[in-house]
Amino acid sequence: GGAVGPALPRYVRVNPIKTCLNDVIAYFKRRGYTYLGKARSIEELAELGQKSGKRFLQDLHVPDLLAFPPGTDLHKDSLYTAGHLILQDKASCLPALLLAPPVGSCVIDACAAPGNKTSQLAAMLQNKGKLFAFDLDTKRLATMSTLLLRAGVTCQELANQDFLTVSPEDPKYQKVSHILVDPSCSGSGIPDQMRILADKEESAQSERLEALSGFQRRALSHALSFPSVQRVVYSTCSIHQQENEEVVRDILEQHPHFSLIDALPSWPMHGLNIFPGSSCCLRATLSDTLTNGFFVAVFQRQKKENESHF
Ligand code: SAM
Repeated sequence: GGAVGPALPRYVRVNPIKTCLNDVIAYFKRRGYTYLGKARSIEELAELGQKSGKRFLQDLHVPDLLAFPPGTDLHKDSLYTAGHLILQDKASCLPALLLAPPVGSCVIDACAAPGNKTSQLAAMLQNKGKLFAFDLDTKRLATMSTLLLRAGVTCQELANQDFLTVSPEDPKYQKVSHILVDPSCSGSGIPDQMRILADKEESAQSERLEALSGFQRRALSHALSFPSVQRVVYSTCSIHQQENEEVVRDILEQHPHFSLIDALPSWPMHGLNIFPGSSCCLRATLSDTLTNGFFVAVFQRQKKENESHF
């Protein structure tokens, strides 16, 4: 064994459809936890794992996110079972946060199950507008229905459908302005998956990555073809360049009316420098950001010439 690295805090997202941050903070104080305030640095979050005791912090990047010591189990907590809390890694909160759909807008969650990000999007919409959520997997979609019900989400329309077959010409989607593309990936940013991947033969692994990145390109390209879409967020829980920067680079070339924006300048880790502008992408790893391994890119439709001046 090598040096012991940092441990992942237990991140807890407060669900604003059901409650608010202050009520949740007060609840945990009553349960004997010490509230340490809002973290000022990632190091401060790391310290949660270095001392013992029931303590928690508010996160510094994601509003409505709390951090507890690694290993804190809240699956049986009554606030969790009542849908007031969503147990979601910090990095996986970034895609919806950066998509930032305005209240009441029309949104597609292209690969949605089990629906953590869908519930976050619904909260941002304040349950107004429309949230079309697709997934191919029937079982995962059923899990998602339960999760959304518990979270009090009501603006969704779920479909057991291949996102690639959702027609951008369908009048139903004419007003869709924001799309989240969080497709199947190798999962190489998730600790357990890292081990599984390391055991696989290299040729099998590269074949798998090729198939995955093919689908990722198709899904992202499809999202950018919706007529009114303004912003598309692409995310994976992979650390492979092949599923991340390479996908983004190729899709940008195919869709010149879109460009990347740096939607979270305070984030400390950026995309690998393989094309101009790749630093707009966000990366996350346990050692750098104290989250699971993750990748996010934000595509924004460029303003037309005549709109860019006053
Ligand atoms: N966004 C989800 C969340 O935050 O809970 C996690 C999504 S997971 C990374 C990827 C999902 O894409 C899987 O549930 C998988 O079934 C679904 N999927 C794979 N291919 C798809 C397709 N062609 N159309 C729609 N969903 C697809």
